Amino acid sequence: IVLTTMAIFWVISILISLYLANWTLLPVMLAYEKQKEFVENASHELRTPLAILQNRLELLFQNPTATIIDESENISASLSEVRNMRLLTTNLLNLARRDSGLKIEPEETNATFFENIFESYQMLAQDADKTFTGTVKLDGNVNLDQSLVKQLMTILFDNAMKYSNEDGKIDILITKSGSYLNLFVSDNGEGISNEDKKRVFDRFYRVDKARTRQKGGLGLGLSLAKQIVVAYGGRIAIEDNPPKGTKFVIRLKIEMPTVHPARIFQKNK
Ligand code: ADP
Repeated sequence: IVLTTMAIFWVISILISLYLANWTLLPVMLAYEKQKEFVENASHELRTPLAILQNRLELLFQNPTATIIDESENISASLSEVRNMRLLTTNLLNLARRDSGLKIEPEETNATFFENIFESYQMLAQDADKTFTGTVKLDGNVNLDQSLVKQLMTILFDNAMKYSNEDGKIDILITKSGSYLNLFVSDNGEGISNEDKKRVFDRFYRVDKARTRQKGGLGLGLSLAKQIVVAYGGRIAIEDNPPKGTKFVIRLKIEMPTVHPARIFQKNK
C-alpha cells in the first residue's frame, strides 16, 4: 500500500510539474513565435524590393550601351524600390527602438501646435483633390510629447488619404476631457471590416496585400500608432464612419501643465 501510494504521489507530482512548466513556458514560447514571425515578415518585405531591384539592374547591365534616357524606366523603378526599402528599414528601426522603451518628453502645448499641423495636411489634401477639416477645441495648454503626437496624427492622416477615393473627405477633431486628450480621425474611404479591425494593429498586417503595397503600405503604421498610444496610457479604437469610411478614436492621458517655479517667483515679486 505504501509503495502504491508513493507511486501514485510520484506520478501526480510529475504531472503537476509538467503542467506548471507548460504554463510558465507558454509566454516564452509565444514571444518566440511572435519574434520569429516578425523576422520572417521583415525578411520577406525586404526580399521583394531587393528581387525587383536585382532584376532591373540586370536589365541595365545587359545593355551597357543604352543611354540613361533609354533606361529611365528601369532607373526610376529601381529608385522607387530603394525608397521602399529605406522606408521599411526606418520603420523597423523605430519599432525596435520603441520596443526597448518609449520615453515621453512632455512640453506645454496649445492649439497653435495642432493648427500648424492642420495647415500642412490641408495642402497635402488639396494636392490630392481631397478635403481636409481640422478642428481643435482646447481651453489653455496641455502637456504633450509633440513629436510623438505629430507622428501619431500623421500615421492616421496618411492612412485616411491612402484609403479614401478621389472625393475623399478627412476630418480631425481634437478635444480635451478631464486629464485626457481625445483625437478623432475620420474618413469616407473604403472602411475596415469588423474582422480586420482586430488585426490591423498587428505588425505587417494589411487588409489587401497587393493593393496596399501599390499604395506604398508596409503594414507598420498602425502598430507604431498603437505603441505611441499605449506609452501614453491611452487607448485606440476603430469605428465605422457611416455611411462609409473609418473613424479612429484615440484617448491620450495627458498631464495638466505645470507652473514653472521661476514663474511663481516672478509672480510673487
Ligand atoms: P499600411 O502601411 O499598409 O497602411 P498600417 O499599419 O497603417 O499599414 O495599416 C494596416 C492596414 O489597415 C492597411 O494596409 C489598410 O488595409 C488598413 N487601413 C488602415 N487605415 C485605414 C483607413 N483609414 N481606411 C481603410 N483601411 C485602412
